[in-house]
Amino acid sequence: MLKRPRNLIFALAVFAGLVGGIVVLSRQENTPSEVPPPMTAPPETPPPVEPPPPVPEPTPEPTLPPPPPPVETGLAEPVAEFKTRITKKSFGIYITPQNSPVQPEKFTGYHTGVDAEYDDVSADVPVRAIESGIVVRSQTVSGYGGVMVVRHPIKGSDKLVLYGHLDPMSMKSVNASVTKGEQIAILGEGFTSKTSGERKHLHFAILAKSTVDWKGYVQNQSELSGWHDPLTFY
Ligand SMILES: [Zn+2]
Repeated sequence: MLKRPRNLIFALAVFAGLVGGIVVLSRQENTPSEVPPPMTAPPETPPPVEPPPPVPEPTPEPTLPPPPPPVETGLAEPVAEFKTRITKKSFGIYITPQNSPVQPEKFTGYHTGVDAEYDDVSADVPVRAIESGIVVRSQTVSGYGGVMVVRHPIKGSDKLVLYGHLDPMSMKSVNASVTKGEQIAILGEGFTSKTSGERKHLHFAILAKSTVDWKGYVQNQSELSGWHDPLTFY
């Protein structure tokens, strides 16, 4: 008698299990399958490697046009190693106490000549006439100490040429005739009255006008046209 209910229960249980299973199955079928979130961002495809840009042909440095050749004057150097010793103040450089290559500096303006430096030379440095000529000034002037102006014929016209910072005791006198290459003075000793307190150097200027002008510096460039750049003659 007990067998039947057991079978019935069993059958019910099986039936219930089947129905449940079908329900679960059908639920699973009906539930839209969730897309699993990506574990990581999809790997980015590396950008295509660009080939290195072609190495440009080295362009030659732009070359400045060569300076005009110096006028063939055949002038003698006023001091030995004249050009290579112009290391601080060239012609036309604008000097101030702040920017000057010489410190301390008391001058301001455009430099009317070139300075050849001899601070390293303790021996006498001869100063020579660059051409034949006549001494027109030989004296001391504030800013120069000993200074001479000699009139030389250069390229067919007379030029006044100023030699500054000379030892006054060594200078030829006014009206003396000088010959090319002849010693006319020696440089003044540095930081003495012979150089007006300046270092040992030659201030060398060629005037473009016919009257003596002592100015070693001028305050504008149009005034500077009263002087030549001496190196255009060397
Ligand atoms: Zn000078």
